[in-house]
Amino acid sequence: MSDCCTPNANSADSCAIPNAAANTTADGCCAVTPVRSQTQTTDQTTCPVCGTKGKSIESQTVKAMLDVSLATLKSDGYRFCRNESCQVVYFGADDDVYTEDDLRERVHQKHPDAADVFVCYCFRHTPGSIHRELLLTGRSTVVEQVNAGIQAGQCACEIRNPQGSCCLGNVTATVKRAQKSFVPVAA
Ligand SMILES: [Zn+2]
Repeated sequence: MSDCCTPNANSADSCAIPNAAANTTADGCCAVTPVRSQTQTTDQTTCPVCGTKGKSIESQTVKAMLDVSLATLKSDGYRFCRNESCQVVYFGADDDVYTEDDLRERVHQKHPDAADVFVCYCFRHTPGSIHRELLLTGRSTVVEQVNAGIQAGQCACEIRNPQGSCCLGNVTATVKRAQKSFVPVAA
């Protein structure tokens, strides 16, 4: 996997800073978000491990997702840490955290391109199934399938998806990445 952090001066990648000379502070995609003093306080809107701002999440989602006794719940409100490189999935006040190991499901945001981790939890689509359809048919119908399921009232994102909300944005992004990496076999 080549990423923007690969120290290859010759490769022009999308993250390259166009005019590096004019930009002495290298704050491209590799810049680490500075840890500000506010994260040192008991500000529970940011993940206590990585400092990323978390998305507020319904307690019903946390309760549905946990694979540990709900007697461990300590907070009223939890937030979701979407940072791929952070182990924390849910956090609440007083450093109350749950990692992926505490959940029934593996979490898309922590493994966005893992073939077998759901991107759509209601209709069970994965990057692997999206790639297979592209290989077999040259196109993806997954967004149409998910939309049809939503129209039919068959989805239950708030209790099936660890992020507690609709997967469509993630599905669309996954299809785009899959299409970019997909090289059709020459006919
Ligand atoms: Zn985090």
